[in-house]
Amino acid sequence: MKKTLTDQELQNFRPKCLRPDGANVGRSIAVTATGFVLPCCWLDRPDGSENLLEDEKIKPFFDKELHINNNKTIEDIVNSDTWQNFMGDLINRPEMSSPICLKMCSSEGNIHRRQEKW
Ligand code: SF4
Repeated sequence: MKKTLTDQELQNFRPKCLRPDGANVGRSIAVTATGFVLPCCWLDRPDGSENLLEDEKIKPFFDKELHINNNKTIEDIVNSDTWQNFMGDLINRPEMSSPICLKMCSSEGNIHRRQEKW
């Protein structure tokens, strides 16, 4: 069940993989050791810490039809409905995004957020 996000949480959510025009360029796409392409390496949890295959937003990226062996180019994968729906939801329905995205790309909760003090 999806958590209901507050207005502040939605405001804090800034997907680092998106430019203002929605292109997937801010963070590099990642290829897992098993040959699947993901919007960024934060979605890959080889240690099983995030139960990836129980995350309905991430699970479709591991469909065998999207495996690199079953596509001619990375663009073929990135242009798939799975990718387009995922990226579109980051923009248009952020409340439906993966808990990993909400954790890693929210200014309050991003444990990798770089902070500089002057
Ligand atoms: S964690 Fe999600 S929202 Fe953040 S950069 Fe990666 S794919 Fe994009």
